[in-house]
Amino acid sequence: MPIDAKTTTYAVLGNPVSHSLSPFLHNSMFQKFGLNAVYLAYEVEKNSLGLAFEAIRALDIKGVNLTIPFKEDAMNFIDEIPEDLDRCVGALNTIVNRKGILYGYNTDCSGFLIALKEELNFYPEGKKTLVLGAGGAARAVCFSLAHAHADKILILNRTQERAIGLVEYMEGFFPETEIEIVDQIEGLKSEKIDLVVNATSAGMLDKDPLPLDLKHLSGKPAVYDLIYAPRVTQFLKQAAELGMAHANGLGMLANQAALAFELWTGRKDAREPMLELVKKC
Ligand code: NDP
Repeated sequence: MPIDAKTTTYAVLGNPVSHSLSPFLHNSMFQKFGLNAVYLAYEVEKNSLGLAFEAIRALDIKGVNLTIPFKEDAMNFIDEIPEDLDRCVGALNTIVNRKGILYGYNTDCSGFLIALKEELNFYPEGKKTLVLGAGGAARAVCFSLAHAHADKILILNRTQERAIGLVEYMEGFFPETEIEIVDQIEGLKSEKIDLVVNATSAGMLDKDPLPLDLKHLSGKPAVYDLIYAPRVTQFLKQAAELGMAHANGLGMLANQAALAFELWTGRKDAREPMLELVKKC
């Protein structure tokens, strides 16, 4: 469908953003379903998110995704958060512009749980989990695990104050889930952990350190790395070497994207084609 004066605009805002597969996924779906729409990627200065939101309103951009580092800040600029879980998470990845009112959603939560089930056959209920990171994506991961009745959630982050903030915030919502900070990596050997999730951005660049040396763990937990560019991070290489079941973030990406696409267009049938597309990436 050619771009013309009636073309509807969608976008992802991030910094960096050039790694994002979202433009490819959503533009492919617009084409597949014959929708007159286009999806663009904008690298937004870290302190200019407010300006970007003014542009969304002024230019009537119909839908927006948020990626690093804007998921938490976006809470300050939207009008409504319709879903209870998304309101609790305190981080958004999808905006829907309905007649000038901006609604915020977090499709990362469901996208993550679906990917765990589909790719690792992992169900969090009653399980002990370790989440690396305390940013926007880690929030969605921790809330999803608690919501799905994980028995225990350990959180390890480079900046401990941020992890403390996340634990304190979560405890208010899930008093029955054990949520703790890891302050002694060596102590991890005494925990029988079933799942490790890398929700840091460490691994996106070759020079990045491992978010955790998996040799600090006993047993063979399943390992999920939210990063999908590169497809195989050093962290996933180590998981493979240690014989741990593992998956990268492509499944979550496809599922959260399909859920966002449904919010924007009402179409429920984008999930399978999105999964097919990410497999070819
Ligand atoms: P944020 O910027 O909100 O958070 C980044 C996190 O990574 C923080 O916990 C930060 O720690 C940590 N971190 C950054 N660099 C390092 C490093 N060198 N060593 C250790 N920790 C580090 O980003 P998001 O939470 O939005 O995204 C995190 C990752 O998840 C990104 O790679 C993103 O692409 C991916 N993602 C994938 C999705 C998918 O669908 N597959 C969906 C959402 C995100 P500190 O607090 O100390 O700064």
